[in-house]
Amino acid sequence: MSCIVEIALSCPLRQTFDYLSDDPAENWQIGMRASVSFGSRQLIGIVVAIKPIAEKAVDKLKKIDQQIDKQSFLPNEIMQLVQWVSRYYHHPVGECFQTALPKRLRLGDPDEMQTETYWILHQQPDSTSKTGKKQQQILDLLEDYPEGLSEKALRVQLGNVKSSLSALVQQNVVAARQYVALPVPCLELQQQVLLNNQQKQSIETILGSKGQFSTFLLQGITGSGKTEVYIETCREFVENQQQVLVLIPEIGLTTQFVERFRQSLNASIVVINSSVSDSDRKQAWLLARAGKADIIIGTRSAVFTPMINPGLIIIDEEHDSSYKQQDGLRYHARNVALMRAKSLNIPIVLGSATPSLETLYQVKQQRYQFLELTERAGGASLPKVALLAAQNSSENNGLSSSLINAIEKHIKQNHQVLLFINRRGFAPVLMCHQCHWQANCRSCDAKMVVHQHQNRLFCHHCGLIQILPKICPECGNTELKSYGVGTEKIEQALTAIFKDVPVLRIDRDSTQRVNSFANMVKQINQGQAAILVGTQMLAKGHDFHDVTLVGVVDADQALFSADFRATESLAQLITQVTGRAGRGKKAGEVLIQTEQPEHPFWQNLLQHGYESVADNLLSERIQMELPPHGFWAVWRAEAKEKDLAIELLQQVSGLLQQSNSSVLILGPVPALMEKRAGRYRAQLLMRSADRGALHQLIDQHIDSVTKLKLARKARWSIDIDPTEL
Ligand code: ADP
Ligand code: ZN
Ligand code: ZN
Repeated sequence: MSCIVEIALSCPLRQTFDYLSDDPAENWQIGMRASVSFGSRQLIGIVVAIKPIAEKAVDKLKKIDQQIDKQSFLPNEIMQLVQWVSRYYHHPVGECFQTALPKRLRLGDPDEMQTETYWILHQQPDSTSKTGKKQQQILDLLEDYPEGLSEKALRVQLGNVKSSLSALVQQNVVAARQYVALPVPCLELQQQVLLNNQQKQSIETILGSKGQFSTFLLQGITGSGKTEVYIETCREFVENQQQVLVLIPEIGLTTQFVERFRQSLNASIVVINSSVSDSDRKQAWLLARAGKADIIIGTRSAVFTPMINPGLIIIDEEHDSSYKQQDGLRYHARNVALMRAKSLNIPIVLGSATPSLETLYQVKQQRYQFLELTERAGGASLPKVALLAAQNSSENNGLSSSLINAIEKHIKQNHQVLLFINRRGFAPVLMCHQCHWQANCRSCDAKMVVHQHQNRLFCHHCGLIQILPKICPECGNTELKSYGVGTEKIEQALTAIFKDVPVLRIDRDSTQRVNSFANMVKQINQGQAAILVGTQMLAKGHDFHDVTLVGVVDADQALFSADFRATESLAQLITQVTGRAGRGKKAGEVLIQTEQPEHPFWQNLLQHGYESVADNLLSERIQMELPPHGFWAVWRAEAKEKDLAIELLQQVSGLLQQSNSSVLILGPVPALMEKRAGRYRAQLLMRSADRGALHQLIDQHIDSVTKLKLARKARWSIDIDPTEL
């Protein structure tokens, strides 16, 4: 008896597809993968339903080419989650499954875990035989690990063990077994730190919600011991055989964070982020699904990792913008994680030194429980923060003389200095004095950025590259001047001023090669005096113990930005950067160089801290009816032809207005940067006090939007809970 199998395929169509299977329905399960032909392509899809054969139109159905899984593949919980994501974000379900699966499995790799050779103690050596030193070390270790250790694990601990191992095998003392490959355990765990009262309190409160849905905001300044709270909370869950999912932002270096977990917990810890190979990601995913990974640490898409026995979700740096995907399926991992915790009925912890306004808003409405760490752990004190007027800074390539003096003072004490500037390249503007020509990008409404090292102009929005012109293309003037500062200019200026001090530039340009970032971090941690110049890559999460001065250059732009989130981001960034100073035993100092030392933003931030700034911003947003107030969706469109995107959105607006709905429709208007990468962009906003009404209105019309003629000429998308307006 054959059956009909309904399959979600990765294509832009908002539907699933029926295929005919020669196998009986019993051979199929929801969540399995199948390979089918679709148009001219061969695709792999996920089974979403199995149906008996109806009489009508069976002969029109194509046959399934191959059933990839013979037993259940995607657990029901993940099926439900992905389908919810598809409905909530109004995104084609097949593409949602794509996001949820690691690449190898998406492409049809068999559902099999890698195995590797583990060495186990087979029998005690007979007393007459002589055991070498290394052999004895191996035996001692294996005694502690009755389930065996891989050669890799032995090597990490003891160096090369090949010959000793084979000798032991010869004597029949050690035997080889083929087991599922687990992450290499840390064989020498670190001692637990003595937790302070606030840490203990936080952990107890979280543990009090074991087995029930509850959301916590753990707010603690950088260095207050949040990571320690995560680790000790995990310990409790791991001991009860419950799994923990830990989400971290996409930043260059997660190694430090993961290492602390590994060195503290006797647990199987897998990592799912972009630095992990496709086959290791697949393995991590399968280990998590099988319950063989206790802790899963990963970036955004790891939120979809299946777990057999989930106990807790943690989101570190919950305010970080990398949790929101800004193309394709525009989901927010924090939002998906909250939904997941709710349906699993487990607690979820959001941690940050600078919580998002979204999260603070929920705390205010008493939907989240508030946990706070107010002091730096381990006795380190918070740095002094002061403003510097940026007078005469342009004469010194962007550095004021008071900042230079401060750097000199710290360097003389053999400490390290971190200078933070949120722009890579040499200078953001290239201009001709005579005719006022400026180097603009021909594909974007943006200026080209001077990159002197490469002798090029770069557009940071579309990637356009040009040779750095020597003469003005308009008037032939030979003196082109650059204005403003970037990391390269600051690096150059400092190298000229501090001749014997190494200056390290850390930005996307200087860290392109694999490991270059890790190598620089190593160099920094070796502790010689040095000046580090970097972009926000440096601002997040790194623990440089010898940095005593943090300088912020050119932070003002955000205060005049049209982006409604700019001040929030600036306050977060400054607070995070501030956390980089004085992490070790030495006291730290932060100097912020600004053209606007009198600006109320700075006064408020310095005198009252992030919380007060966030509080003001939140009141402002509520008053102006901006997010997180209300529920929002944005239709975005872009097209090569000017006005086409706007026209499409006008038609969308027309459709939406047909319904008698309480939802407010605003626009369409051109995007903040109208032209980008050769396309003109526009947006149409929807706002409502009622989440249900908003989604209903979209549901009512999205199919008609798909059918609009213009919808085929312009690219369009819908963005739910947008973080950019
Ligand atoms: P956060 O995650 O909030 O930045 P961490 O957990 O990284 O803070 O803690 C900052 C530093 O203080 C780390 O080096 C950590 O090992 C140490 N630390 C944390 N809690 C304690 C404690 N209770 N006693 C001593 N040191 C601690
Ligand atoms: Zn000119
Ligand atoms: Zn461009």
